[in-house]
Amino acid sequence: MSNHSQFKKIISHAKEYGYIFPSSEIYEGLSAVYDYGQQGVLLKNNIKEYWWKSMVQLNENIVGLDSAILMHPTTWKASGHVDAFNDPLIDNKDSNKRYRADVLVEDYVAKLEHKIEKELNKASKRFGESFDKKQFLSTSHRVIEYKKKSELIISRLSKSLENEDFDDVRKLIEELEIRCPISGTKNWSDVKQFNLMFGTKIGASAESTTELYLRPETAQGIFVNYLNVQKTSRMKIPFGIAQIGKAFRNEIIARQFIFRMREFEQMEMQFFIPPGTQKIWYKQWKEKRLNWHLSLGLGDDNYRFHDHEKLAHYADAACDIEFKFPFGFKELEGIHSRTDFDLSNHEKFSGKKLKYFDTEKNESYTPFVLETSIGLDRMFLAILSNSLKEETLNDGSQRTVLSIPAILAPIKVAVLPLVNKDGLPEIAINIFNKLKLDFNSSYDHKDAIGRRYRRQDALGTPFCITVDHQTLVDQTITVRYRDTMNQERISLKDVSKKIQSEVSFKNWIKKV
Ligand code: ATP
Repeated sequence: MSNHSQFKKIISHAKEYGYIFPSSEIYEGLSAVYDYGQQGVLLKNNIKEYWWKSMVQLNENIVGLDSAILMHPTTWKASGHVDAFNDPLIDNKDSNKRYRADVLVEDYVAKLEHKIEKELNKASKRFGESFDKKQFLSTSHRVIEYKKKSELIISRLSKSLENEDFDDVRKLIEELEIRCPISGTKNWSDVKQFNLMFGTKIGASAESTTELYLRPETAQGIFVNYLNVQKTSRMKIPFGIAQIGKAFRNEIIARQFIFRMREFEQMEMQFFIPPGTQKIWYKQWKEKRLNWHLSLGLGDDNYRFHDHEKLAHYADAACDIEFKFPFGFKELEGIHSRTDFDLSNHEKFSGKKLKYFDTEKNESYTPFVLETSIGLDRMFLAILSNSLKEETLNDGSQRTVLSIPAILAPIKVAVLPLVNKDGLPEIAINIFNKLKLDFNSSYDHKDAIGRRYRRQDALGTPFCITVDHQTLVDQTITVRYRDTMNQERISLKDVSKKIQSEVSFKNWIKKV
């Protein structure tokens, strides 16, 4: 299956099984806004819990916060968002479609990377077992040419964006002969800046209204509360504040499903550190965050770091953890060394001191900040896209399975009576009523057992408990495992313990 059709399959599966619906669908939907259905909300909550526990519960020097979406408008002047939270946009005059100029260029570079991958595949087929990937990458003329070209393009784009030289960005698009995917022409407008913040108003009468913004990131809620939290929690630096919440960005191009949304959720942690120690913490948090991702078992090769060449106005080092989505490697999480940019600016704009008195050093300073910021919806998409599989079984039949890591699966266990008679439903309901006290569970007695297994596979339920006639004799049931389809007969009294060990936070996080 091509990546494009795999992606379409993911979107339709997400809708069919109650994971994600387009927002206000009965009115034709709202572009780049989505609702999470009955399965989706459970998966989302489980991702949040996995993140929250590993940040707040496991680190005695990290505490939580839940700050408001609406903030004093000066916040966004201090943070630089009013002046600098812009994307460069360009219009195609024939299709009247609007694009992010930098994304057009990046997509061009992604095509070059794709060509390198193709060369690699071809060569590995040609040379078979004796293929030396490293040697090929450093000697193939074509690969070297593609690589050089990509690097030149990215470095020129970074420089032009940094210098706000938008004429050169346009020139670059023209030189690369990039065409509009809709009209197929190269008839481009000038490149202009576009601020991504959504404006709104607070107050009842025209005279008393104040212009506000819906927050474009959750981080600023942490910075303005930094001293409140530090004083009331009596935290000593280094310490962190974690927060999960909604953010809003009026993205120019909203596509790729929940990858780029206008209303989305972030899980951010700001770690406050002494000035000058940022390199050490940057390295540590990069490692910690990658390990957190790897603990979920979505495949080590699906992650890579991408170090930023063009740094945001607040950062002295930054990288992304990229994930291999069906449309290629893209940013899943950002790790940023934010210096003292935010706290210093809030001091300046508010006139309030946000300094920390370090009793060990006997001096006061504005702390530096190390940020880890992951998009909850992108994490959701990473899991969904990695989990959806079409399998051909030994008997030639097909099954659709959503192999979501058990710790995150929306419904952990389904209880199924083999037949809907002979006293089996009564026992099954009894088991279900016990299990639901500990786990999100479901009970299903409709259709033949095989069809019910398929339904639970497609929903992503990792375990099915089947009650059959033998249960009446010896108080045993079968546990069926979603991913292997293996079945195991165990005693009824061990069921809860069994599921618990498969979905316990302790067992998953110890892989970190
Ligand atoms: P991008 O370059 O893809 O626009 P970004 O670098 O602007 O992302 P950050 O400001 O670093 O993103 O935000 C942190 C995280 O928030 C990102 O790593 C991503 O997972 C998530 N995120 C950002 N914008 C969106 C969006 N429009 N929709 C969904 N998630 C988003």
